[in-house]
Amino acid sequence: ATPTALLVGTGRGAQLGILIKGPEVLENTRKADTVVLDKTGTVTTGRMALLGVHTAEGTTEDEALRLAGALEHASEHPIAQAVATAAQDRFGDLPAVTDFENLPGLGVRGTVDGHAVLAGRTALLDAPLPPALAAARSAAERAGRTAVAVAWDGAPRAVLEVADAVKPTSAEAIAELRALGLRPVLLTGDNRLVAESVAAEVGIPAEDVIAEVLPEDKVATVQRLQAEGRTVAMVGDGVNDAAALARADLGLAIGTGTDAAIEAADLTLVRGDLRSAADAIRLSRRTLATIK
Ligand code: ADP
Ligand code: MG
Repeated sequence: ATPTALLVGTGRGAQLGILIKGPEVLENTRKADTVVLDKTGTVTTGRMALLGVHTAEGTTEDEALRLAGALEHASEHPIAQAVATAAQDRFGDLPAVTDFENLPGLGVRGTVDGHAVLAGRTALLDAPLPPALAAARSAAERAGRTAVAVAWDGAPRAVLEVADAVKPTSAEAIAELRALGLRPVLLTGDNRLVAESVAAEVGIPAEDVIAEVLPEDKVATVQRLQAEGRTVAMVGDGVNDAAALARADLGLAIGTGTDAAIEAADLTLVRGDLRSAADAIRLSRRTLATIK
């Protein structure tokens, strides 16, 4: 490989909105046969909105939104921001949180107005959801929305429906990656039904959806694919994607994502548009073909 051609390749990358850590990265870009895509913030915009509040008997929507909103105000997760923003829009100032704890890939907990409040996946709950809330949760997930369970003082009392939109260019980008011979895989900590619904929207079959994966297990997922003999490119935006980006044969960070992801990756897609991932593959193949 002549250094000049590689440098020309990295220069072209910059023009295309692809920042490459070093010329040697192009070689791994060319070899990738599998592309693992994080869902939230990568395939979807990550700008979530609160779309519904369901409560158990004896609980009002306002109570649930006020406590959950106050708690989520202390978290930077896209889901948390959606809930906190909706609560602020309705109530203005929110009560303070003490003993706040972030449980990555699961949710949050803390004390608000003297109540021990919890918001997140149902796996966090001590008690099962009452039937009406369980039904609301299934309906939300079948519709591709994330259901956030809210409990306080030991009892599940509400389900919040949160959703974000698939980026307008994601389906086209995934089709381009497939046409380049890569197999797209959707990887997420979110619920399987939600994940499959998003996957269907962008043309990824259910068998290539890996859902309900805890942040620390995203790396293990990449390693498992590598152990199957695949050369893995991973695209992600979050703090919880950083280790997997570093472990993948090629890590691509979404430029609008977190610093942790950008630092761990080999390549940054400045525009946050997944089509740049296909551009990167094409660029590396062209650059390396010129060299041979
Ligand atoms: P992704 O892999 O799609 O980026 P995460 O790993 O960040 O998602 O989160 C996985 C799941 O954990 C979310 O879909 C949500 O159900 C739950 N969760 C995580 N953080 C929060 C939070 N602050 N509030 C509510 N739910 C949360
Ligand atoms: Mg993400």
